[in-house]
Amino acid sequence: MSPIDPKDAEIARARAEAEDARSRVGYGGILRGKRAVITGVANDRSLAWAIAQLFHAEGAELAFTYPGEAMERRVRPLAESLGAKLILDCDVGKDEDIDRTVAEVRAAWDRVDVLVHSIGYAPREALDGRFTDVTTREAWRVALDVSAYSLVGLARAFKPLMPPGSSVVSLTYYGSEKVVRNYNVMGVAKAALECATRYLADDLGLEGIRVNAVSAGPVKTLAAAGIKGMRTMLSENADRTPLRRNIDHEDVARAALFLCSDLAKNVTGEVLHVDAGQNIVGVVSMG
Ligand code: NAD
Repeated sequence: MSPIDPKDAEIARARAEAEDARSRVGYGGILRGKRAVITGVANDRSLAWAIAQLFHAEGAELAFTYPGEAMERRVRPLAESLGAKLILDCDVGKDEDIDRTVAEVRAAWDRVDVLVHSIGYAPREALDGRFTDVTTREAWRVALDVSAYSLVGLARAFKPLMPPGSSVVSLTYYGSEKVVRNYNVMGVAKAALECATRYLADDLGLEGIRVNAVSAGPVKTLAAAGIKGMRTMLSENADRTPLRRNIDHEDVARAALFLCSDLAKNVTGEVLHVDAGQNIVGVVSMG
């Protein structure tokens, strides 16, 4: 018997997961005929991957982007398992990557109905310690550029391909609104991302393009693992939300599906909290 190629095994596993997702949820193929560009899949724990699986199950044709060759090895098998043909290298910190990506999408597709921005990055050392000590000029520049400006850069580049009724969705976190220790400069970047969501929504409303964000509660992913104290926070968080539980990947995917479907056809500039109600709670230690 010949040994199983790890890539084949990965594809088989991802296919089984996709099948499973398809059998578990069904919203009537609400994205049938839509074409979606998904950024931000790093592995099968990525929020973007949960979104991609659900969008695929709901009938969307998908294109994926990844930043750099090292990431390609992880993303390609996953993307291929959902039938994607467009799997493109795009570091959103580089204008030339964004331009090339749009040109490659344009060569294959006549339009893009959905753009998912699921990208966040800050140097690790900026996510551990006192805000004043670790927030260097460089950490600020990189975090704001990659995590917030990229939404504007991608939206501008994809705009000519996006017809009226299309939509952009990004992912944010409550650390933009209130202090979450160690989240530090990412909180500042998420505040910029949310504000940019409103400015983009107003501007792109002229073309009938909607722009929204999902503010997700904490979920275990690669990006989350880079934030000091995240593990403890996750274990303590559940009891403190109104629903007394943490959210999961699929909660985020369903919210993104709503925002990117015609169900939300008059929703734009919105930051939708999917956090088991956490953001409404003030003092929790009096009960
Ligand atoms: P993840 O690590 O799976 O995804 C982050 C993605 O950002 C990766 O795919 C990575 O390749 C991509 N990325 C980083 N730098 C990039 C660059 N220069 N160019 C292109 N892509 C780049 O983790 P995730 O938790 O799924 O994160 C996705 C989004 O969700 C992020 O915006 C994150 O801030 C946000 N979010 C996460 C949580 C959580 O608890 N996990 C909560 C709220 C919001």
